[in-house]
Amino acid sequence: MRRQRNAQHKPRRTISKILLILVLLVAVTGGFWFGLVPQSLSPFGRISLDTRPSLFVDPRLSVLRFDPALCKAVLREPHIDAVPVPDRLSDTNCGWVNAVRFTHVGGAKIGVNPLTCEMAAALALWVVHEVQPLAREMFGQEVVRLGDMGTYDCRNIVGNPFWKGVRSQHAAANAIDISGFTLADGRAISVLRDWNGEGRDSAFLREVHRRACRYFRVALGPDFNPAHANHFHFDRGLMWTCR
Ligand SMILES: [Zn+2]
Repeated sequence: MRRQRNAQHKPRRTISKILLILVLLVAVTGGFWFGLVPQSLSPFGRISLDTRPSLFVDPRLSVLRFDPALCKAVLREPHIDAVPVPDRLSDTNCGWVNAVRFTHVGGAKIGVNPLTCEMAAALALWVVHEVQPLAREMFGQEVVRLGDMGTYDCRNIVGNPFWKGVRSQHAAANAIDISGFTLADGRAISVLRDWNGEGRDSAFLREVHRRACRYFRVALGPDFNPAHANHFHFDRGLMWTCR
């Protein structure tokens, strides 16, 4: 009789164990996702702008979120001339923490002020290890300027009625809009004009957009919706979309 009762309890214990493991798994994943696990406790190596990261890119970037000292150690010349910007938070759910300003990234000029450290590192990795190598390969020259349509903007998400009451990642300086690229010979490649073409410029835009998904959690372009017809939107918020 006792043996029978024990046998009945076994499945319940197994379910409890599985649930406990699931809860722990969600907690650990969430810790990395929200950037709450410090570098000292992370099993993943510190990210460096010198080398193209191959594995665990997302948790290695999110660890920068609340760590200004780590940010300073990672965001370095010659890849980026990042200068810390004082934190600013408002009672309208806008503002930023651990942000930087900079005037060049990966050899290309851009005027950014402010952008979160985590986003600045993602942008630098993308420009240094994806945009510039592809520009050299396809055009035999580098990109000297990034068309920047802004980072910080205290506003809600636009272009999608479902999200219209939700703050954009721009309201946290955790997003950047890129309108195009200028090559060393002065020629401009525009997201608005060239995305839908047949030639090299269109192929370049589509490939750098595809490769952006490696570094940004959200990478949107003209194929996403009409609000993005003239720019790429990149952010490292809580969602994950690459289109
Ligand atoms: Zn945007």
